[in-house]
Amino acid sequence: MNIEKIDNQEDGQVFFAASVRKWYLKNKRNLPWRQTSDPYHIWLSEVILQQTRVQQGLPYYQKFIEAFPTVNHLAAANTQKILRLWQGLGYYTRARNLHACARLVVKQFDGRFPQQYEQLIKLPGIGPYTAAAIASIVHHQAVAVVDGNVYRVLARFFGIETPVDSTAGKRQFHQLANALIDPKHPGDYNQAVMELGALICTPRNPRCTECPVQQRCVAYLGKTWNKLPVKKPKTVVDSRYLYYLVFRNGEKIYLKKRASRDIWYGLYDFYCIETKRPQPVNRLLKNHGIEKSAIRQVSPLYSHQLTHRKIVARFIEINDLSKIPGDAGLRMCSRRQAEKLPKPVLINRYLADSGFL
Ligand code: SF4
Repeated sequence: MNIEKIDNQEDGQVFFAASVRKWYLKNKRNLPWRQTSDPYHIWLSEVILQQTRVQQGLPYYQKFIEAFPTVNHLAAANTQKILRLWQGLGYYTRARNLHACARLVVKQFDGRFPQQYEQLIKLPGIGPYTAAAIASIVHHQAVAVVDGNVYRVLARFFGIETPVDSTAGKRQFHQLANALIDPKHPGDYNQAVMELGALICTPRNPRCTECPVQQRCVAYLGKTWNKLPVKKPKTVVDSRYLYYLVFRNGEKIYLKKRASRDIWYGLYDFYCIETKRPQPVNRLLKNHGIEKSAIRQVSPLYSHQLTHRKIVARFIEINDLSKIPGDAGLRMCSRRQAEKLPKPVLINRYLADSGFL
């Protein structure tokens, strides 16, 4: 690489960092976790916002702060209450880790979050992204946050074509992000790039005309924004077929806590028969000793998208409670009890559609 190119590159980096921060200070959204430097609030917002858009996460953040004003309150809470409040956000492992982390912070650190990135990353549910966010925003440590927004903005501005989900890509983007960070204002800088990605350099139809770095953006100048960032070819999404037997007796319904380390661990659903392929309902039930006459009704197909899986489900209401399998582990619940239990969104959709809740 010649000296001129290196100079241009460094100049581009300085221009990028300064322009993005200046834009952020003028245009940032007024969000509650930006009005505080309390690590508990910042941590909570970052965990909620992992894989969740701000619009969707905001009411959850407010509900959690109201229910658990401090990390001590959260640590002392009942897991079921946490899962219930989390309901609808998905990725329930995050909620379980949230609780485990709060307990650890109270037990080992006397309720005070550790300050250093290296300590933060050891806490349950805190990965490089969340640790960098807390360390930079609260403790002004110069560690770059790299999330989907950051990958997109950097790939476009610098015209980087290495797949962002490859090992080489991750290394390259992390190195670049850490070279760009403003050591005097690391928190502002990190939030600025993420905010630019969320508001201006959006996945589709980026608002380049309003972008503070447009004049030197490789993707804008080369009209390649729709080709960046590059990702590895997608793997095929598998489907899972779930046939739920819904035992219901007027105002009572039978629910089951999911005990295996699978999707929705610890949440409540119905007695479930899983198959590799779609099955005719009558044949499936006959194989489980249930005759056609015991079926009250069969729901239409429900489809529910998880990150790497598609769930295809059918709900079959059974009117004969003597058909409940002996090993089913079902719990009889009133409407009120069923309403309070943490359940996957799919189950809630069915309960609402069927008029039970
Ligand atoms: S100019 Fe357009 S493509 Fe380039 S960083 Fe700004 S919004 Fe993204």
